[in-house]
Amino acid sequence: MSALEPLREVIARHGLSASKALGQNFILDRQLLARIAAIPGDLAGKTVYEVGPGPGGLTRALLDTGAHVTAVERDPRCVPVLEELSADFSGTFRYIAGDALEIDEAGELGTGVHIVANLPYNVGTLLLTRWLDSETWPPFWSSLTLMFQREVAERIVASPGDKAYGRLAVLAQWRSVPKIAMHLKRSAFVPPPKVASAVVHIVPGDAPEGVTPQAIAKVTAAAFGQRRKMLRQSLKSLPEALEALVGLGIDETRRAETLSVADYVELARTIA
Ligand code: SAM
Repeated sequence: MSALEPLREVIARHGLSASKALGQNFILDRQLLARIAAIPGDLAGKTVYEVGPGPGGLTRALLDTGAHVTAVERDPRCVPVLEELSADFSGTFRYIAGDALEIDEAGELGTGVHIVANLPYNVGTLLLTRWLDSETWPPFWSSLTLMFQREVAERIVASPGDKAYGRLAVLAQWRSVPKIAMHLKRSAFVPPPKVASAVVHIVPGDAPEGVTPQAIAKVTAAAFGQRRKMLRQSLKSLPEALEALVGLGIDETRRAETLSVADYVELARTIA
């Protein structure tokens, strides 16, 4: 990594005590940060969008790969640190002081973007579903490298029959390919969060013909809305899906968690 002032000293100098309200749990270990920055593959010369840089630990690791990084941070206390970083890495780093939920990412960054984020759980899940639901496919992003609570990461990569399999797994797998790239102990963060974390890496896959994100959303919402019930009961709220189920020869007495992602794709195609 570059010979910049150590991160702990930057944090102390700017008085950046972690804010609970903003879900701040910082990673300070440079080796660990370099390993996370390596997950998307060779980033030299590529466009990286980092959400929630905080004091900039992961940002530095990303910049050290030779990437062009744009970061958006909501905490105004971090602006002076990011300003210093943009002086150290002029030409390869810029930041936006604002809320990631309000950014027009494709407009700001174009296409072929590698997104990297260590975000609070609720914001991370909201952004993930937005990125997965993109109307255009392939989307503006080439990969997502996102930190989640371990339990959420397991829901994203789950298979039928797993306890964690549900709506999020289908949304993340019907035209994307997710995997858990790294597990992190609570002690990797300052301050340590209540639960362990994991980094999920997602790349876009082939979009099945004739299936829309809206149809996938509708079918999975109805099916998993009452996941313990048989599909003939849970799909009552979406009669066209129930009809499609019968047409596809899927037993109506099965439960939502037993259907494969391919089954949901077929159901969505039929109702689309
Ligand atoms: N990336 C740093 C790291 O790994 O050490 C900080 C991670 S900390 C868990 C999450 C960061 O996201 C915080 O700096 C927080 O202020 C920022 N954040 C939270 N909500 C945000 C939002 N809606 N938009 C942009 N940044 C946000």
